[in-house]
Amino acid sequence: MRVFAAGLQNETNTFAPWPAGARAFEEGGVRRGAAALAGQGPDHKTAQLWSELCRRDGHDFTPGLFAWAQPSGPVVQSVYEGFRDEILADLRSQGPFDIVLLFLHGAMVSTGCDDCEADLVRHVRAVVGDQAVIGVELDPHCHLTQPLVDTADAVILMKHYPHDDYLERAVELYGLCLGKARGELRPTSALFDCRMVGFYPTTQEPMASLVERFCEVEGEAGVLSVSFAHGFPWGDTPDTGSRVLVITDGDPARAAQLAEAIGRGVYAARDALLPRFPSIEAALDEALATPGLVVVADTADNAGGGAPGDNTALLKAMLDRGVAAAALGAIWDPIAAIACADAGVGARLKLRIGGKAGLSSAQPLDIEATVRAVSERHDQAGLGNSRTKMGLSVWIEVDGVDVVVNSIRTQVFSPDAFTGLGIDLEGKRLVAVKSSQHFHAGFAPIAAKIIRAATPGAIQMDFAGLPYVKKADLSFYPRVDDPLA
Ligand SMILES: [Zn+2]
Repeated sequence: MRVFAAGLQNETNTFAPWPAGARAFEEGGVRRGAAALAGQGPDHKTAQLWSELCRRDGHDFTPGLFAWAQPSGPVVQSVYEGFRDEILADLRSQGPFDIVLLFLHGAMVSTGCDDCEADLVRHVRAVVGDQAVIGVELDPHCHLTQPLVDTADAVILMKHYPHDDYLERAVELYGLCLGKARGELRPTSALFDCRMVGFYPTTQEPMASLVERFCEVEGEAGVLSVSFAHGFPWGDTPDTGSRVLVITDGDPARAAQLAEAIGRGVYAARDALLPRFPSIEAALDEALATPGLVVVADTADNAGGGAPGDNTALLKAMLDRGVAAAALGAIWDPIAAIACADAGVGARLKLRIGGKAGLSSAQPLDIEATVRAVSERHDQAGLGNSRTKMGLSVWIEVDGVDVVVNSIRTQVFSPDAFTGLGIDLEGKRLVAVKSSQHFHAGFAPIAAKIIRAATPGAIQMDFAGLPYVKKADLSFYPRVDDPLA
């Protein structure tokens, strides 16, 4: 068999102010061919895995383009089309291929297209023909559309949030596509629309048990895959929302019946699944009353959902209270990072940090800071053994709070976002992280308690109040109490 793989990813927050252009992808990572196999991002780790599986099984593997940009506003149309056409050109010039594996996000919106993944797969299908097998791996924060499911042979989503299972799902997708290419499997897909918009960490109930249920159903004979598309609430498209996808082996009626049964199971838990986070003040009260290290998540200013990452509200509240033995990261402020780096370690300077990118950033904060460390190319552990760039980063100390200021916009995934700069988290009472959920994998082992705070910012959890214009069906929970009635 000849197997081709490519990746193209952006989770688009259509409410975010700035688009993702070529620079956003260059900063995130653009690698081609063999160079993609040497990268450290989740897309590169996936390409490496597919390459190893092909080598093990005696198949020819061709890596194409792998491009990723930090979540942001819509992708510039010409940039999206340039990447798409590059993948198509590779397929034409290096093909024919029996199998095409695509590592996509599923929530990419460009300035001219609401469903880039379906557009890409449609174009790929036109090049490779009906005989080739197209498999797609998606992030669960996707807009899982019927055209995409219909055009691909198999679509598999990561089940965990944090998405630490992307390599397991890549193995499954490889196996499913190989089975179809050999004529041993007939993947048949069905979608069920749960009529919900939500946020579903799988580290807590009731979502943890629902994921177990998905896996149980996958264990039944004739069921090839069960996926739950959480949806991406901050991407306003006709298809925004939560859906269940079931793939059976050649049994469309069973796929449809199982997708509906599983979807109604998620729906039945909708009230318990709705996030209800404490205010900043209540979160700090709870944190300071708890012995040990408490992690407070700045959920709404998560760069991983397209937020700027420069909101200062939580830091201001901590400083106003005189919270000591605390750390906060990472405030995205390249200007402040440059000023601190130039001042040098040990310098004490007046700084205006954060609050720059837009209304969701709140006000900038005027502080006096001591520069404790500078790293020209800081990075942190990401999900599944990957690494995430943080760029020029500084550790500054502000009235007893150790603050990380960085220059490449990213959420905080793991403690080494702090410790990598020399910040000692042992003995800290409170560590505040700009992230909604991906921090959980890295911080749960060291946290006595984790508190997700309802902070101001671009990733608001008030789903009923999101100002959708394009979303076709506004009869969804929690905007409507019982939309499936
Ligand atoms: Zn996601």
